Amino acid sequence: LSKMAHSIASGAKPCKVGDKIQDIYTPALVVDLDGLYKNLELMKTSMQKFGRVNLRPHGKAHKCPEIAKLQVAHGAVGICCQTLTEAESMVAGGIKNILVSNQVIGLPKLLRLAALARDADISVCVDDEDNLRTVSQAAENCDVKLGVVVEVNVGQDRCGVEPGKAAVSLAQVAQKLSGVEFRGIQCYNGLNQHIREAGDRKNAVALVVTKTEDTLKHFKAGGIECPLVTGGGTGTYTYEAASSIFNEVQPGSYVFMDADYGRDHGSPVHDYLHTLFVLSTVQSVTSGKRVVVDAGMKAVSLDSGEPLVKSCPDVTYTCGGDEHGILHPPGNWKVGDLVWLVPGHCDPTVNLYDWLVGVRGDSVEAVWPITGRGPGI
Ligand code: PLP
Ligand code: MN
Repeated sequence: LSKMAHSIASGAKPCKVGDKIQDIYTPALVVDLDGLYKNLELMKTSMQKFGRVNLRPHGKAHKCPEIAKLQVAHGAVGICCQTLTEAESMVAGGIKNILVSNQVIGLPKLLRLAALARDADISVCVDDEDNLRTVSQAAENCDVKLGVVVEVNVGQDRCGVEPGKAAVSLAQVAQKLSGVEFRGIQCYNGLNQHIREAGDRKNAVALVVTKTEDTLKHFKAGGIECPLVTGGGTGTYTYEAASSIFNEVQPGSYVFMDADYGRDHGSPVHDYLHTLFVLSTVQSVTSGKRVVVDAGMKAVSLDSGEPLVKSCPDVTYTCGGDEHGILHPPGNWKVGDLVWLVPGHCDPTVNLYDWLVGVRGDSVEAVWPITGRGPGI
C-alpha cells in the first residue's frame, strides 16, 4: 500500500499499460480500442465505394498523433488540423501530410507553420489577400513551400470568401507568390453535420455542392486549375464524396462519436460506434434520491448536451458543478463504483485531458498523450 501513497502531479498519467480498469484514476478519458478499430475499418470500407475521393480525417476530434497514425494506416492521405498547436503536435508525432483547415494569422505563427514544412507537406486555408502574402513571406523566410487552400463560405457564414470569382482572384494572387502553391478550395459547412434527418442533411449538402460547382465554373472560365476540393464531416461526408465535385473529405468525430451525433438519424452517422467515455467514480449516494459522480463540467463538455450513462438509457446526468455530476434515478450504485459517461460532444471533452486511456476488455492497453490539446496558440 505504501507504494500507492504517492501523489499524482498535474499532467501525470492516470494509469499505466497492464493496469485493470478499476486501477484508473478518475475522472479519466477512455477509448474502447475494439470499437475504435471497428470505426477505423468502417471508414476505410465506406471510402472504398467512392474510388477517387481521399480521406483526410480531422485531428481536432482527438488531438492525438497515435490516433492520427492509425487513421493513416487505415487509408487516410493525411490529417486535418484546426490549430497550429495541433499541427505541431501531429508533425512531432510523425504525421507527414497536414491541411490546417483554418486561417493562421500573423507572421510569428506563420513562421512556426512554415518550420513544419521542413518535415511534412503542410497546407493552410486562406480567405484574405494580406494574410496570403504573409503566408508566402513566412514560407520564403524558411526556404519552404506552403500549400494554400482558399476557403469558400458555402453557408456556415463563418470564414471563407463568397462562392464564385472571389476564390479565383485569391488563387491568382497565390500563383504569383513564390512561397506558396495553390492547392484548391475548402467548402465545409459545419452546421449541416448535425441536421437530424439524413434526407435533410443530404438536401443541405446539395446546396453546398451547388455553391462549390459555381465556384469551380469560375476557375474553369479563368483557366485556373483547382486540384483539391475538400470538405464534409462525419454527418455528411458520404454526400460530399458522392457528389463527383469533392475529391477529399474531412470527417473527425467518427473515431469516437458522441451523444449529440447519436441524435442524428440514419447513414452515415449510425454506422459508427460510441467509443469515447469519461470514466467516473461514485462519490456520494443519497439513498433513494441521487448518486453523485466525480465528473462535472471540468471533466465533460456540456455545450452539446449532457453526457449519457452507458447502458443506462433511463438514467439522466445533470451537472452538479465543476467537479460533480448528479445521476437520477439512483439505481443500485454504491460509493466507489465506476460509471461510464458518453460525452455530449467529443472534441471539447478530449480537449480537457492530457491522456487518453485505451482499454480492451478490463485491461489498459495504451495510454496516449493528447499533445495537441488546448485552445491552440
Ligand atoms: N472539417 C472542418 C473544417 C471542421 O471544422 C470540422 C469540425 O468542426 C470537421 C471537418 C470535422 O467534423 P466532425 O467532427 O463533425 O466529423
Ligand atoms: Mn465537434
